[in-house]
Amino acid sequence: MTEEQLSNLCKSMTLVEKTDMLHGNELFRTKGIERLGIPPMTFSDGPMGVRTDYEASKWFPIDNNIGKASYLPSNTALAATFNRELSRKAGESLGKEARGRGKDMILAPGINIQRTPLCGRNFEYMGEDPFLTREMTVPLIQGIESNDVSCCVKHFALNNQETERLSVNVEADERTLQEIYLPAFKAAIKEAHAKSIMGAYNKFRGQHCCHNDYLLNQILRKEWGFEGVVVSDWGGVHDTIEASENGLDIEMSVTDNFDDYYFAKPLLRAVEEGKVKEEQINEKVMRVLRLMNSLHMLDGERKSGQYNDYHDYETYLQIARESVVLLKNENQTLPLTRKAGMRILVVGDNADKLQSSGGGSAEIKALYELTPLMGITMLAGGNVKVTYERGYNSFTSGNIWDDEHKQKEENWQATSLEDITSGSKSADGLNARQKQLNQRSAERAVEAAKTADLVIFVGGLSHEQDTEGKDRTDMILPYGQDELIHQLLDVNQNTIVVMMSGSPIDMGSWIDRAPTVVQTWYAGMEGGRALAQVLFGDYNPSGRLPETFPISIEDVPAHKLGEYPGTETVHYKEGVFVGYRYYESKKVPVRFPFGYGLSYTKFHYDKLTLENVFAEDWMQSTVKVQIENTGDYDGTETVQVYVHANDSTIERPVKELRGFEKVQLKKGEKKEVDIVLHADAFTYFDTQMNAFCAEKGTYTIILGQNAHDEIMSTTVELPKNYLIQR
Ligand code: BGC
Repeated sequence: MTEEQLSNLCKSMTLVEKTDMLHGNELFRTKGIERLGIPPMTFSDGPMGVRTDYEASKWFPIDNNIGKASYLPSNTALAATFNRELSRKAGESLGKEARGRGKDMILAPGINIQRTPLCGRNFEYMGEDPFLTREMTVPLIQGIESNDVSCCVKHFALNNQETERLSVNVEADERTLQEIYLPAFKAAIKEAHAKSIMGAYNKFRGQHCCHNDYLLNQILRKEWGFEGVVVSDWGGVHDTIEASENGLDIEMSVTDNFDDYYFAKPLLRAVEEGKVKEEQINEKVMRVLRLMNSLHMLDGERKSGQYNDYHDYETYLQIARESVVLLKNENQTLPLTRKAGMRILVVGDNADKLQSSGGGSAEIKALYELTPLMGITMLAGGNVKVTYERGYNSFTSGNIWDDEHKQKEENWQATSLEDITSGSKSADGLNARQKQLNQRSAERAVEAAKTADLVIFVGGLSHEQDTEGKDRTDMILPYGQDELIHQLLDVNQNTIVVMMSGSPIDMGSWIDRAPTVVQTWYAGMEGGRALAQVLFGDYNPSGRLPETFPISIEDVPAHKLGEYPGTETVHYKEGVFVGYRYYESKKVPVRFPFGYGLSYTKFHYDKLTLENVFAEDWMQSTVKVQIENTGDYDGTETVQVYVHANDSTIERPVKELRGFEKVQLKKGEKKEVDIVLHADAFTYFDTQMNAFCAEKGTYTIILGQNAHDEIMSTTVELPKNYLIQR
């Protein structure tokens, strides 16, 4: 439809019809206007697949099998691949699934920065680095939206903790905002042209993010030129007039009093009383109509999508296996060879736990989910004997679609606006009886470990801890796992420790004793197969940590400064020194640095050169380096480029990731890798000039194995200042 036709459509609506388009009329749907041929807008979570449908006004899942869908690797897993192309493919598949399930908007991706390892929703996000997050976000969104379905980038902005998430006020200075918390959102809007964005629950500088003048009117609309639709987080609106004036378009919530939503009757009243101009309502309606039009919801031919397309399972497998991070392989225990008669003992609740159905709104009713135990057993083959001992038990079913869940009156989300507690005090929440049972499970596992050729322990967290609505209270492993790992290592040195989690855990008690350690994530329906492929060497690991694993929670800047979780207000006093920007600058040792990950092969870096072009208002420096696979396996290297400003006039992080590229190399093969750095790779945000500034002076270009270990470096001199608009 033309702009004129859309405008005529808007003109022919009554005021009630207009506001009907601007608020939920069901938990995941607005109201359509049948007489004008305007359909409702249908939403679904996000981000690990398409969530199962709920009844229109009750948090009861519609419990039939057609809601079973693909379960994609979490965003943390995706980020750990450092692979933009896989991100695009994940998006294409997610968008196709969403359309296939009849959705118009998928509430994804989640791109908030990991400020603390304790945030319950870290698994939905892409780690601690704004550059990595933006590089993975852009293709992901483009992929989603290539399916005539809208994404909804969330949660805008500074939603970095679950504790008091509905009310906490975040104070961050302008530089911190511009350098750390906004770049991925900005790229989502300006580069990926995301059609929709979700306002966060929390406040920023005293105003709720869903009606925040600075974030929505000034930055999003005016500076970034966003013409799409702003949707509230579910229940994130608190004031009709403020929300109307400050850029919100659609209000959604978790309760069923749809007519009482701020954008329902109260908005009508506000217009009638002259407090809100109808003109403002028209602008919102036009934005929604334009969005619908761009998705071919009003006329033309719309892509129909498809879900559970088995062709996509290969993509999920690729992502899952590229996300596995090899942390330690001291005795070259990995990759495993399948020797006839070999006895492998698998231990751990996570080895056989279904993770897809937990975590809060990211839950998925997975068509299937291959657990690590299944993957290992499937790939071991008939000549190897795989046995299993749980060893520790989280005493959760791993499947909320069971009878117990169905009988519950309410889903957690129905009361989520009232529930703003900071989470249970005890890390594991087990009662005495359960602890006793766990002790017996541990004894059985240790006994079995004595005679096994190899033990694979699969533990970590689950969505009991990595979940929406609460943060963890510490980084310690729950359910007595530390002790169990020690006991297994006592009786069998061939114990491989696999940790599955959505954020860093404390490995301090056993890391020096465990020769072989692997980190994996909530890695989607093919996760178990992917892990097994890495363990058996069918795939050479290439995953990199998208977040630092600190030694202790006290080392995390927000915690060290006492600025987490705050009471009413949390001050981001660490400023831009988040994650490795802090650890590297202040020389704080960490367990595993950002970007860390081993391979079964070795890579040699050589012939580092730069090709520079300095024009009047732009510049470019191309980093060229030769990488050679000098080890015994084919493999994939993740080349990481960090930039250090030598002559900076202000305090800056000692290095920042500004480029990366993945390169596949056969055994003995060498390739040249080119990574282009533009002026923005040298900038900091200058509050005086109110712009990003690449200062004149010398910069060291560091090729790092990760944020800490440097391989080689060279320098470049910028002949002048380059300013980039914020
Ligand atoms: C979450 C959002 C989610 C929405 C709808 C909220 O609780 O914060 O991420 O999209 O619910 O389920």
